[in-house]
Amino acid sequence: MEPKQEPKVLQGLGASPGVAIGRAVCLSSHKFEVYRIPIPANDVEAEIHRLADATQQARLELDATRKRAHEQLGDELAAIFEAQSLLLADASFLNRVEQRIREEQVNAEWAVHKVGEEFLDRFESLESEHFRERGDDLRDVTRHLLRALQGIAHHELSEIGGDVIIVAHDRTPSEAVRLGRQRVVAFATETGGPTSHTAIIARDMNIPLVTGLEGVTALVTDDDPVIVDGTEGTVILHPQDDQLAGYARQRQEQGEEERRLLATSPLPCVSRDGVAVELMANIDLPEELDDAGRFGAAGIGLYRSEFLYIERSPELPTEYEHVSTYRRLLDTMSPQPVLIRTFDLGGRKLAREVMATDEENPVLGLRGIRLTLARPEIFKIQLRALFRAGVGRNLWVMLPMVSAREEILEFRAFADNVMEELDSEGIEFTRDFKLGIMIEVPAAAMIADVLAREVDFFSIGTNDLIQYSLAVDRNNEHVSYLYQPLHPAILRMIRFVLDCARDSDVEVSMCGEMAGDRRYTPLLLGMGLRRLSVSPRSIPEIKNQIRSLEIRELEEATVRCLGMGSAEEIERCMQTHLARNVPVA
Ligand code: PEP
Ligand code: MG
Repeated sequence: MEPKQEPKVLQGLGASPGVAIGRAVCLSSHKFEVYRIPIPANDVEAEIHRLADATQQARLELDATRKRAHEQLGDELAAIFEAQSLLLADASFLNRVEQRIREEQVNAEWAVHKVGEEFLDRFESLESEHFRERGDDLRDVTRHLLRALQGIAHHELSEIGGDVIIVAHDRTPSEAVRLGRQRVVAFATETGGPTSHTAIIARDMNIPLVTGLEGVTALVTDDDPVIVDGTEGTVILHPQDDQLAGYARQRQEQGEEERRLLATSPLPCVSRDGVAVELMANIDLPEELDDAGRFGAAGIGLYRSEFLYIERSPELPTEYEHVSTYRRLLDTMSPQPVLIRTFDLGGRKLAREVMATDEENPVLGLRGIRLTLARPEIFKIQLRALFRAGVGRNLWVMLPMVSAREEILEFRAFADNVMEELDSEGIEFTRDFKLGIMIEVPAAAMIADVLAREVDFFSIGTNDLIQYSLAVDRNNEHVSYLYQPLHPAILRMIRFVLDCARDSDVEVSMCGEMAGDRRYTPLLLGMGLRRLSVSPRSIPEIKNQIRSLEIRELEEATVRCLGMGSAEEIERCMQTHLARNVPVA
């Protein structure tokens, strides 16, 4: 019997709450997810055949590339591919892969990946520049092989037995969606901030996530037993029996609490002194509509339509797919409103893959409305679908990342052309929808009075508003301590936006993660917000909070808090003056 390993507690940042217990699967590559999948002894020969087929395919690909390089780029560059072809023909590499498949009875992808690492270590330990350069060739060859293998019927994560905890350097939002639909019960990653899109997806899918665990991928081996506590931000490797029992209890209590909150869904969302508040749902995937309904959402306050593109990548969704998705959202929530945000690709969300852009600083680049206006041939398809799907339905169209009035005017002109086109084709569509913008760029917040004249509604996106105002990357765990929703600069902007919206009769909501954190609910309501859009699973908790508040009482105290000069002072002021209403963090 193997000796039992000592438990090890790692502290990171809790980015999606809840507790999960499972076995680790380490994902070691950013581009390729390589899982270690045990295979039965009688499948070993078939696996070695897969390897041989993939090797043949990779060779053909490399030869074709070498020929093209030779014709177009000359001998010197073609020599790189020549070197890679030689590596692929090198018996020592492939024999070693085969040996690992036989001895460890594992899938070919895993064996290629591990042998690639072994050889790389050897190359890198050599002093010679020549060998270090061969390291890059080896990486490329490994990638070719993995790509070829993945094209040939391959093993899926779902084949691994038991509950899976993904341990990785980081995960993109699209990977989180895909993994979340499989047997994954938690994520533990080295990088990423609590308001990153990956964290938002994890929360929406009810999967605990701990980020900021530096070096975790080197500490964990596949199949290690792991506990992830996304509420406290801790990860326990090799937990002892009493720890396992304690967390299993906690998980059970979590389930009971959820059931208790769910039972409150039919209750009206009204404060103790009778002020009605609309609690809507943020969703990224149509399957979250179930949760929105179950938890009693008063409509969809943010549908991130970019996930439609992320899900279809590398293809673009067709007009038909857009129309049917939007109709499903609108019909399910009818007669309540559905705010569909036009695609906010860019930043870290797949612009490169979908739009073939490659930017040095994508978060400040061609993102949101900028990207849509720059690629009218793609945007047109989405708009045609929105106007078609909106017929007889409560459609609100929302533009992301607006920073200037001209963008709204340009959108309107473009939308008019799209409608004219639909009209000339005799296709039924609607002109009857509300147009709004996200207020998530500080410039937009500061000219909210100007923008209010152009639109029907605002939705305050605190995730980006905080990122851009405080110069704090929302994905960077090293600066997450500076990511302060209570920073006076943020609260002043929110206040100004609310004032402008009220003066111009523009409807206003908040859909950033700040709206879904019950610690801020008294302050937000005290500032005058009456419509919040939050992750469906946060609805019961926020509603409970609202039902316990005396809003009139909050207003005066809020004015005091807003007069403070720092996030710490505002927090203290909240504790003192909103004491009865502010829950302990
Ligand atoms: C926001 O920025 O607050 C927002 C809701 O949009 P996203 O999180 O998709 O950037
Ligand atoms: Mg945003």
